[in-house]
Amino acid sequence: MKRKTFLIRSFSTLAGIFAVPATNLLAHHPSRDQKNKPLVISTWQHGLEANIAAWEVLMQNGRALDAVEKGVGVTELDPSVTSVGVGSYPDRDGKITLDASIMNEQGNCGSVAFLQHIKTPISVARMVMEKTPHVMLAGEGALQFALANGFKKEDLHTDYSRQQWEEWKASNKTVPIDLHNHDTISMLAIDNNGDISGACTTGGLAFKHHGRVGDSPIIGAGLYVDNEIGGAGGTGVGEVIMKTLGSHLIVELMRNGLSPYDACKEAVMRALKKVPDAENLPVYYIAVNKQGEFGAYGTNTNFEYAVYTDSKGNTLHKADGALGPQ
Ligand code: ASP
Repeated sequence: MKRKTFLIRSFSTLAGIFAVPATNLLAHHPSRDQKNKPLVISTWQHGLEANIAAWEVLMQNGRALDAVEKGVGVTELDPSVTSVGVGSYPDRDGKITLDASIMNEQGNCGSVAFLQHIKTPISVARMVMEKTPHVMLAGEGALQFALANGFKKEDLHTDYSRQQWEEWKASNKTVPIDLHNHDTISMLAIDNNGDISGACTTGGLAFKHHGRVGDSPIIGAGLYVDNEIGGAGGTGVGEVIMKTLGSHLIVELMRNGLSPYDACKEAVMRALKKVPDAENLPVYYIAVNKQGEFGAYGTNTNFEYAVYTDSKGNTLHKADGALGPQ
């Protein structure tokens, strides 16, 4: 894996030399000529594992919706991932509070915010979409809804997450937002029908204020899908993504002709232009369009994303970024 990552990084550095301005509406990008169907794309290295589960669903001719739920569910249940589901870093009060959203090919969506004690918030979000007339449930109401629908109330802490919180508390740190304490999984999939769905799930920023909700459950911020056009998902500092409604913006930019790569880049540039201090508050996006082209971009070059296609298998990519390494 290390060697593969190195190769991908080397390639991406070469590709970066030929990077094109975001303002060029018809800019060319390497993925532009590929017609990938089915396809799974997800954020960060843990996306590789998640992609495998999603891909299995697609290989059985399953729906993209089932694929993304299954895929990010793997990350939610992995206690070694400290930013999603079980084992997430707690908030300032030592509580693990989770946000998640899901969106299907019909433009339906569901989300949960500030949900505690449930291992798989993405499946609760799907149930909100499918079993209620609402889009979002939050806090105690979301928990009660989950329990009433067969989910179990559980302790999501691990020894490691508890220990990290205790160390943070003892050191009297006050800053919950920095360059390194985020790693949401956002995933987009295209199934054999060419239909697109997306999912996004997170423990949010480590040591955040109790009650803080990020971009991940906000439709249009952390996730957006329009099956006619494509989909986008975000990770990074949710406050910046919410202020610029990044995922919706990316889909609208693709509607106007930008490639997924250029749309992600433009959304990052918008954030850097509009949000004070955004250069210190990293955000990263992934996107796919209806043609099966994909792209990603970040405020810096720390971002990796995982892509599964028939032709290339499951590969980790280093994304381009506006400000270089941070
Ligand atoms: N976007 C998430 C949030 O602000 C953080 C992350 O990407 O891990 O809650």
